[in-house]
Amino acid sequence: MKEFLSSHELLSEVERRAPAAGFRTRTLGHVINDSGRIPILSLSRKVEGRAPRILISAGIHGDEPAGPHAILTLLDELATGWDSLRRLHLEIVPLINPSGFDRRQRHDATGVDPNRAFGSPAPPPEIRFLMDDYKRRPIDLFIDLHEDVDTPGFYLYELAPDTSSAFGPHVIAALRAGGHPVNQAPIIEGMAASDGLILRTSRTIPRFFRQGSPQGLYMKRLGTRRTLTFESPPCLPLDDRVAMQLLALRTVVVLFAP
Ligand SMILES: [Zn+2]
Repeated sequence: MKEFLSSHELLSEVERRAPAAGFRTRTLGHVINDSGRIPILSLSRKVEGRAPRILISAGIHGDEPAGPHAILTLLDELATGWDSLRRLHLEIVPLINPSGFDRRQRHDATGVDPNRAFGSPAPPPEIRFLMDDYKRRPIDLFIDLHEDVDTPGFYLYELAPDTSSAFGPHVIAALRAGGHPVNQAPIIEGMAASDGLILRTSRTIPRFFRQGSPQGLYMKRLGTRRTLTFESPPCLPLDDRVAMQLLALRTVVVLFAP
């Protein structure tokens, strides 16, 4: 696939592909990057009647391009496939941190890690826009697409209602069946992991961070019952990482859809 190196180009592609996939695009606000103003976009697609609501976000760390590129491929595929997603209200934030994306850096242009700023008393603008938007309606399932420069294979974090209903083992099984590498380390990012899964349940989640928290914990505080964070390995080609993100996403959606 073509790799987009500027947030302007990537978001223009998102806006171009979204209508054919049935999405309405909203601009939540603008941030300043090195070349001017850039929008924070949110896409939504509703189904008839009551249905669970799923939120997918990508690009909160600017040096993790597989997530935003997976969203582009997803938009193409949604025009014709992904039947289980047709039974859900779907929201997508395709690129949370465009100023970091343009600089190939984790933090935004103001030097803040946006994924430690949710719930902070003074969040950077991109996170303030999202916090204002997210609290307007309940999200049932939240999925955040990340990459980890230190990992040799895919892994994920899950905040699940309980251990027995975790989606993570199914995601790992699907990745392995697809021939993708999985991070087998017993400790990942300082946390106990088992076969590529760092699992927390409602009983074991850490207390809310006073200075701001990751997006997944913030969604949990807002009432989201299950959150998943995918981590793909940047040591592999972009096409492979996009395939991993989409396979993980497809596995979760099939498990979750009514
Ligand atoms: Zn990240």
